[in-house]
Amino acid sequence: MNKTKIVATIGPSSSDYNILKQMALSGVSVFRINMAYASLEFAREVILDVRKISLEISKEIGIMLDTRGPELRIGGLEKPVIHLEKDSVIRIINSSIIGNSEMVSVNEKAVIEHTSVGNTIYLNNANVKLVVINKDEDTLVCRVINEGDIISESTINIPDIKFNINFLSNYDKEVITFAVQMQVDYLALSHVREEMDVLDVNDLLISLNDNNIQIISKIENKDSLDEIDKILNVSDGIIISRGDLGIEMPIEKLPRLQKALAKKVKSKEKICVISTEMLSSMKSSIKPTRAEVSDIANAVLDNVDALMLGEETAIGNYPLEAVKLMKSVIEDIEKDIDYKKILTELIKNKDIDISKAISYSACEAACAIKASAIVCTTLSGTTAKDISNYKPSCPLVAISPNSKIVRGLSINYGIIPLSVAAADTTDELVDISKRACMKALELNNGDKIVIVGTFPLHNVKYTNFLKIEEIKKED
Ligand code: PGA
Ligand code: MN
Repeated sequence: MNKTKIVATIGPSSSDYNILKQMALSGVSVFRINMAYASLEFAREVILDVRKISLEISKEIGIMLDTRGPELRIGGLEKPVIHLEKDSVIRIINSSIIGNSEMVSVNEKAVIEHTSVGNTIYLNNANVKLVVINKDEDTLVCRVINEGDIISESTINIPDIKFNINFLSNYDKEVITFAVQMQVDYLALSHVREEMDVLDVNDLLISLNDNNIQIISKIENKDSLDEIDKILNVSDGIIISRGDLGIEMPIEKLPRLQKALAKKVKSKEKICVISTEMLSSMKSSIKPTRAEVSDIANAVLDNVDALMLGEETAIGNYPLEAVKLMKSVIEDIEKDIDYKKILTELIKNKDIDISKAISYSACEAACAIKASAIVCTTLSGTTAKDISNYKPSCPLVAISPNSKIVRGLSINYGIIPLSVAAADTTDELVDISKRACMKALELNNGDKIVIVGTFPLHNVKYTNFLKIEEIKKED
């Protein structure tokens, strides 16, 4: 089993019911829908299909909805793809025109107002580089420095400038309301710049009576890097969005940044996901490059919770193959991880409470006896997250009668979420735990499992017991 999870983005290449099902069976733990491109109708269909698949294959699957964010984009174009030639001149204006190779529109007037002669503008994920050579009240006149293609609604990046655009557009408010209605598990926030952006979303979620969705802030610009500590404090986790980061800052800084961010986020016990171009070549080839395989393995060694596939599964030709490949690379590199060493490092100089002491001991015992699984009952998800953050050497089966709680654990490292019947006594709890492990994993007679829970069941509110059992199939 891959303990580092796979998040796969769903788009036209992968929204078919059978492909979704095969992807879920082949290792995807969370499906992400990118609302910068998808419509609400598309998202609704995918979510309903994933829920059906989840029942069909008895696997809890998380859903992540990704907002559009305060993004700068060009408007529609008269052709699907337009090539901009080197040294040609293109005007950027703020009015509703259909664009061509000489003129395109922009969705925010601020782009014209705040950009100056000499600034660099990147279009379509930095496929095209422009420099502003002239400007008047409503037009930026630009020269094409690096030629390339643009498409309708291409992204615009202007790394030098800080724009004062509202974080929550009406469209994103609609997306978030929809996310609450559909009870999705994760809300990924695009282009977060500061703590206030996340707090605005939190206020909206409170006004919608939601207390379930976890907020994952996408770190994809310089502002968010400057404000990372504050953003982390108010988020459940982050996505290291290497696509935009690689445009907004010198690309050679990305590897060191990835490592530093992963370390910081995990030291604060928040969710960390690494994203973008992990298997880019598999959009058009059935085989990855050697460098991509190494990138995946390297990301696993950064001790994050999950790796994310974007265009590979959304618009690529080989969505299922990309998932399978990612899973096998993760599984192979995970064989080499020294869990005992990581655990010792994680616990060093830390004050821990009773519940965390049990979680830590469960991981230590699992290492020592080569347990096949740890199983924990979790009311709010906290104990399961604590154990996951200690990087257990074996899978962690997290059980709860509350399916929303277990689904919200689908992205966390090592966790197999499972909803089970509620227990009335501790004996029943041990029995349910054992059965849950046998359902979730292929176990053999004599395999050892570490059970974590509360005793007595109804009077204690925190995790306080640990029991080791051997599997006997006839049980
Ligand atoms: P996107 O962002 O997939 O939401 O566009 C990811 C990135 O910038 O890396
Ligand atoms: Mn992005």
